[in-house]
Amino acid sequence: MKPLATSLSALLGVLIALLFIRTITFRSRQLHAPPVETLRFDQNTALERLSEAIQLKTVSFESATESNTAPFQKLHAFLTKSFPLIHRQLTKEIVNNHSLLYTWEGKDNQLKPILLMAHLDVVPVVPGTENSWTHAPFSGKVAEGYVWGRGAIDNKASVLSILEAVEKLLADGFQPQRTVYLAFGHDEEIGGQQGAAKIAAVLSKREAQIEFILDEGSAIIDGVIPGVAAPISMIGIGEKGYLTLKLTVSTPGGHSSLPPNESAIGILSRAIDKIERSPFPRNINPAVKEFFNFVGPELSWEKKLVLANLWLTEPWLKRELAKSPLTDSMIRTTQATTIFHAGATENVLPTQAQAIINFRLISGDTIEAVIARVGKVIDDARVKIAALPFSIDPSPISSTDAVGFKLVRRTISQVAPHTIVAPFLTIAATDTRHYAKLTKQTYRFMPITIRSDDAKRIHGVDERISTEDYERCIRFYVQLIKNSQATAN
Ligand SMILES: [Zn+2]
Repeated sequence: MKPLATSLSALLGVLIALLFIRTITFRSRQLHAPPVETLRFDQNTALERLSEAIQLKTVSFESATESNTAPFQKLHAFLTKSFPLIHRQLTKEIVNNHSLLYTWEGKDNQLKPILLMAHLDVVPVVPGTENSWTHAPFSGKVAEGYVWGRGAIDNKASVLSILEAVEKLLADGFQPQRTVYLAFGHDEEIGGQQGAAKIAAVLSKREAQIEFILDEGSAIIDGVIPGVAAPISMIGIGEKGYLTLKLTVSTPGGHSSLPPNESAIGILSRAIDKIERSPFPRNINPAVKEFFNFVGPELSWEKKLVLANLWLTEPWLKRELAKSPLTDSMIRTTQATTIFHAGATENVLPTQAQAIINFRLISGDTIEAVIARVGKVIDDARVKIAALPFSIDPSPISSTDAVGFKLVRRTISQVAPHTIVAPFLTIAATDTRHYAKLTKQTYRFMPITIRSDDAKRIHGVDERISTEDYERCIRFYVQLIKNSQATAN
């Protein structure tokens, strides 16, 4: 027994030593760049302009009519009037009637251009909720330290603050070394096929090679991740895929007095039940690992110990992350049954039952694999499975060692030094997917603060942006454009 006990305790000693060494050498990835000079600009005018832009109801539309396209024309005219230097010195192209592409030519054509993205359209206000808003949804009211209204965050704050930044730089006589593209699609909320996809086609045709892209899709998250007290500037380095499946069961139907053993409703219900009982496996994918590599070193000693030793602690961590839908969605493909249709009359068997299931795919999964898995889980040939037209595989993951990431990180450390910077997997879909062929470096970030009760405001009631956050957006884009002029990071 003695040699065994000795070797066991030796092994334990090695294990403890390893845990400690890994924890001690879990080095911080944060930058502490020297603070930059405070940017002087007319805050009130900038807020006023954001407010006016919100008042133009640029709700995305499927088919163009005079009434739904008019707000887009008005917004174009408003931008032209508000940013005279941009419209004098940059090249503006109207793409597919409603989207905008600006080119700010750099002096050094050896440097690959950067592309700043945002979108002009907004989601509609759900009818019946107008009165629940503190200020009318398209009022653009500036009150209580916020600018209120649909699009305040998603995504007119980006459009306007990017333009404010460029106008300010032009006013200061700044001329970029590196070409800067500004791309504003007009149908991001309904897939971007008519806007971002067409802008990307224009750039592809020119064989434009982009150093990096920055779009919406992530923010400064405050108090949302359990166990992390400091706000985190999350830079989206990838985004989940999207797939919707329609399940259909067809039966002969007939009168309810002479029913078969199984109805269309019963067969379909069992299929859905099987799917819900077989959730996708959890997996700490590379993007999530990167998130912990950046956040971990900034946490308390015990948490650092856990995150520095994922080789041992991963099963426990997965269980912890599974406790909240937000953190759970970071580590697995999710599935949500959203529609169920069957039957119309109490004494008639329906001939058809249909259900819709929406999937958000984690990197590593594919549309094909999800469809195959669903078929296998249901294991019933009577249930027909069809994918709805809009589906997309998860995006590639952009590197945290690339120039683009480093520039965004440096800029954040200058304009939001109170935050921890960390890469992240964006849960929602953005327009960036249309540009995938133009660069490997695609990042998603806006320096606005999202606290736990703010997430529901986006696409919901009382969307708003704090004036402080909006001013930070302008400073952020000014600084990012300045920082990106050199190749160094
Ligand atoms: Zn958006």
